[in-house]
Amino acid sequence: MGRLRGAETAKELTKRARDIAVSLMRPPKLVIIRFGADSSDISYENGAKKRMEKCAIDCESRVYPADTEPEIFFSEFEALNSDDSVDGILVLQPLPKKISAARLFSVLDPAKDMDCASPENRLKLFEGRETVYPCTPEAVIRMMDQAGIDLQGKHAVVVGRSMVVGKPLAMMLLERNATVTVCHSRTKDLPSVCREADVLITAIGRAKMIDGTYVKEGAAVFDVGINMDSEGNLCGDCDPESMPHASLVTPVPGGVGSVTTSVLALHVAQAAAAKLPRR
Ligand code: NAP
Repeated sequence: MGRLRGAETAKELTKRARDIAVSLMRPPKLVIIRFGADSSDISYENGAKKRMEKCAIDCESRVYPADTEPEIFFSEFEALNSDDSVDGILVLQPLPKKISAARLFSVLDPAKDMDCASPENRLKLFEGRETVYPCTPEAVIRMMDQAGIDLQGKHAVVVGRSMVVGKPLAMMLLERNATVTVCHSRTKDLPSVCREADVLITAIGRAKMIDGTYVKEGAAVFDVGINMDSEGNLCGDCDPESMPHASLVTPVPGGVGSVTTSVLALHVAQAAAAKLPRR
């Protein structure tokens, strides 16, 4: 079993984003919106800022208290949305109860939507039309490409059906002509469904739940989960040690999660390139 790390894919995407960014008349600009002080949000934001710096992309954080009044937030958001110097907006989720995600993403300019959260971009994704992909599912697909996996005709099993990972990823796998099964907490006999997979993708949020008994000989396993194990260490949804018969497994940390900010950087650079002249 090989470990497929994200470093190579991240490096290549970082270079592509930087090459685009430095070719433009001004640096691309990303604004990250965060509510409250959730530690995983802050850690993602810090990682994204470092990545943007490597890619010559300006990055600004707008941090709001979790109890911000919607009208105050939305009036500021509208100004940001129509500010021509801002190329991309990323809103960290989940949002506080008072702030309606449906309202926010329906006003978000689809051209500034960096994570396929606007209804217009989601519709395009589900219709198989060209659009910005959500960063995490795209990171999975980019790692598959890096590993030379041809999805055509393969059976891909996705465990998890969230709008952030499982559902959009299923659509992206269909676009690549995989035969796709989506599983969730009510799936009966999950291990035997997973054992059908040539490519197994787990996005569950359950530390090391998926062991070798879920994996068929030679399957490729992509672990999207980010969890803490019983000793407080970061781990995925899979237990890689128990699946020596897999052809490859992505580690956590250092796997899919290490590619997502590079995908984000590429999205920002591409959004800026669509509207700015070259040097
Ligand atoms: P989510 O919204 O909580 O969705 C979890 C999904 O897993 C749900 O569809 C749920 O089924 C399913 N599930 C939960 N327990 C299950 C079980 N015992 N058997 C089968 N299915 C089960 O989570 P998410 O936002 O998609 O995130 C999933 C994981 O990916 C988390 O660990 C998260 O931290 C990680 N993540 C990583 C990245 C990255 O950059 N690498 C980005 C985003 C998320 P139901 O629908 O039936 O409830």
